[in-house]
Amino acid sequence: QDDPIPTVKFPNGAEVPALGQGTWAMGEDAGYAKAEIESLKAGIDLGMTLIDTAEMYGDGGAEEIVGQAIKGRRDEVFIVSKVYPWNASLKGTVEACENSLERLGTDRIDLYLLHWRGNYPLAETVEAFETLKAAGKIGAWGVSNFDTDDMQELLRVPDGANVAANQVLYNLSRRGVEFDLLPWCQSRNIPIMAYSPIEQGRILHHPELIRIAKANQATPAQVALAFLLERDGVFVIPKTSNVERVRENRDCVSLDITDEDWKALDAAFPPPTGKRSLEML
Ligand code: NDP
Repeated sequence: QDDPIPTVKFPNGAEVPALGQGTWAMGEDAGYAKAEIESLKAGIDLGMTLIDTAEMYGDGGAEEIVGQAIKGRRDEVFIVSKVYPWNASLKGTVEACENSLERLGTDRIDLYLLHWRGNYPLAETVEAFETLKAAGKIGAWGVSNFDTDDMQELLRVPDGANVAANQVLYNLSRRGVEFDLLPWCQSRNIPIMAYSPIEQGRILHHPELIRIAKANQATPAQVALAFLLERDGVFVIPKTSNVERVRENRDCVSLDITDEDWKALDAAFPPPTGKRSLEML
């Protein structure tokens, strides 16, 4: 029996497993489609039912892969997708969403995000999101790559306070958000979604992470994911197209890391001591 995945509650009350699945780079090469679909399905079977995608990934191809993976089981999953900033006008957002729905083979995206800030006024994008919500095409909306000042600005536009999440770069080697953005969001019950939680694989070779993983009969990826899952109001969305790694990532919830090891991780990956601008990939 697998240990349960902790959940995070969205402002609209939806309670969703905090460990989900990313899809960046999926849907780019038909030769990998089968492995991508299989790994997403395996993740759903294991309870990683939040799936993060975007119109950007694979130029729509990733959404099509997700569509294949969720066929016949739409109600088991929580779908997150994103609109390009240059599509985020009043009309463009609605069109982009409808195209995403078509590729996903569904009539509802659970959480729809502005991928990053662009030139359209936030008020206009928010109005489009609210229109989509009223039409039942999305369940909630949010943003991505918004720093604290962007969030403050968002809360000042009409309906801006309906923001349901902010998806940002957050992992052991990118802890800047802990200084201000993370506590700011936590205190307002706005979930953070940690993207690139294993730094796209780059942190897995860190000697101290390897040492701590070994001491816990775990892998470096599991420790890196457990570090994020430990935080309140944080979703973690690792991407893998490999079924064994899906299982490995899922099992990070069973780690029981000692205070001493958390301290060692803090020493190897120091938390911020001042404001750092939000980084993005
Ligand atoms: P991740 O940190 O999730 O790392 C993914 C890479 O790590 C892949 O190359 C994968 O390879 C490999 N990997 C996964 N699990 C393991 C494991 N257990 N051991 C070793 N290697 C592993 O990076 P992503 O950038 O993909 O971030 C996750 C998701 O966040 C994205 O897929 C996307 O959905 C979202 N994202 C959002 C952004 C935004 O601007 N909003 C920006 C970036 C990401 P393999 O598939 O071969 O296993």
